[in-house]
Amino acid sequence: DFDHVVEALLNTSVDLDSLELDSVLEEKWIKEVVTRSGMKFRWANLSEKKERPNRDIHRRPPADPSHLVPRPPVVTIMGHVDHGKTTLLDSLRKSQIVSTEAGGITQHIGAFLVQLPSGEKITFLDTPGHAAFSSIRARGTNATDIVILVVAADDGVMNQTVESIQHARRAAVPMIVAVNKCDKPQADPQRVKQELLAHNVVCEEFGGDVQAIHISALKGDNLLALAEATVTLAEVLELKAEPTGLVEGIVIESRTDKGKGPVTTAIVQRGTLKRGCVLVAGKSWGKVRFLFDENGKVVTEAGPSSAVEVVGWKELPSAGDVILEVESEQRAREAVEWRMYEEEQQKLQEEQSVIELKQKVHLEEYRRERAELAHLSWKQRRSALYQVNKTRFSLRTSERTERERLSLPLIIKGDVDGSVEAILNILDTYDAQQQCEMDVVHFGIGDVSENDVNMAETFRGSIYGFNVGASSSVRQLATKRGVPLHLHSVIYKLVDQLKDELSSKLPALL
Ligand code: GDP
Repeated sequence: DFDHVVEALLNTSVDLDSLELDSVLEEKWIKEVVTRSGMKFRWANLSEKKERPNRDIHRRPPADPSHLVPRPPVVTIMGHVDHGKTTLLDSLRKSQIVSTEAGGITQHIGAFLVQLPSGEKITFLDTPGHAAFSSIRARGTNATDIVILVVAADDGVMNQTVESIQHARRAAVPMIVAVNKCDKPQADPQRVKQELLAHNVVCEEFGGDVQAIHISALKGDNLLALAEATVTLAEVLELKAEPTGLVEGIVIESRTDKGKGPVTTAIVQRGTLKRGCVLVAGKSWGKVRFLFDENGKVVTEAGPSSAVEVVGWKELPSAGDVILEVESEQRAREAVEWRMYEEEQQKLQEEQSVIELKQKVHLEEYRRERAELAHLSWKQRRSALYQVNKTRFSLRTSERTERERLSLPLIIKGDVDGSVEAILNILDTYDAQQQCEMDVVHFGIGDVSENDVNMAETFRGSIYGFNVGASSSVRQLATKRGVPLHLHSVIYKLVDQLKDELSSKLPALL
């Protein structure tokens, strides 16, 4: 396991430059070793040196038109809340036009297939509303060919109706209007179509090209006409796909099943999915062990526009992830590793730029403070420091921690004014490294007190005393609180130790 490997690596002498990094995991181990051993090593160098070849995979170029065959449309139902989307999906699923065998238990897998008496097929995505539609759209792909816009005839066009129209339009997906609840006495389908005009949805009877079907989702009236209208539109759209070659598809739902493990519902967009196919989706891959339809029946293959449950993933992909078939497991692993590596690189880069920005801000602030203090006598400086520290206390913990990481907070105690001033003067002239600055938070005359320890603890700083003592209770307190306490009687030794401590705090480990 991780700890064992890290432990083992810690006990070997490794030449980091000569290491061949084969996987993201190994990088993690080495990173951990570097951190734990306290080696001064800039992680960024390693990544630069071991630039990986890009082994990502992408969709194939468009197919040769002669390889294309017609495919069924994939349809999403949208509309205002309570206008009958769920009811419509339920009736479509249950109605006689549905391919479900009598007595079959329909499961929710995110999509289902409807077969018309004419033999035509339609795949319905059965997560109503724009949530699913948008989340998949947001990731750059359309899983949908046609939107059925449900508008209740007794309610008319409402805000989510308008939003649905906008969604469909932005995605350039054509619409069919299902004027629902036409069984209701107060239903006014004409009004619905008129209201739609205001949103540039022009139904056929107004000279437009949008089909509007009057239905009752509840009673199941006119569902066949709605399905036929969908097929007609699909014919106009000339939906085609290549049924051969490496599979391409999209994840529309994913979940972890107690028995089956990570399971996704996939819409096949190209090729034919079969058992044994090796697939990559997002940062996970898998070898298809089983395919199921919405009736929980095992399917042997799934061609373009079919929705199937795919079992065999190593990890759970997310809805909207593009599914791509690859020739081998090795290729799948490479692609996933590349994607993980790339993500890590991106994260590192982002972290790095945040750190750099903060360093810059803090250093500037620190230099300004120091410059302001420089011309003061040391007694004036003490009261000025007091003010500065008060502000610093009011910083949020996270800001304070960041500042602490970049500086070495110091408390200086001396036997007389002159010695304290001498130390401060030496520190002022000491040209601190870029990354880490000394930060004198307090100085004074006399033995190290409990108050000094408390202060050092608060700033996570160190105490340096010159020619002063510390009572045993103060020493104990310092040990207990983890506050470094250094007492010296030779100034240059004090300064040397200080420089050592300073360089040990340099943020060399990223
Ligand atoms: P959704 O929020 O769009 O999914 O709407 P639902 O399908 O949940 O329907 C909301 C309500 O309208 C429910 O009480 C349904 O029974 C009712 N409803 C849906 N379709 C019809 C219909 O065609 N006729 C009538 N009378 N009621 C319907």
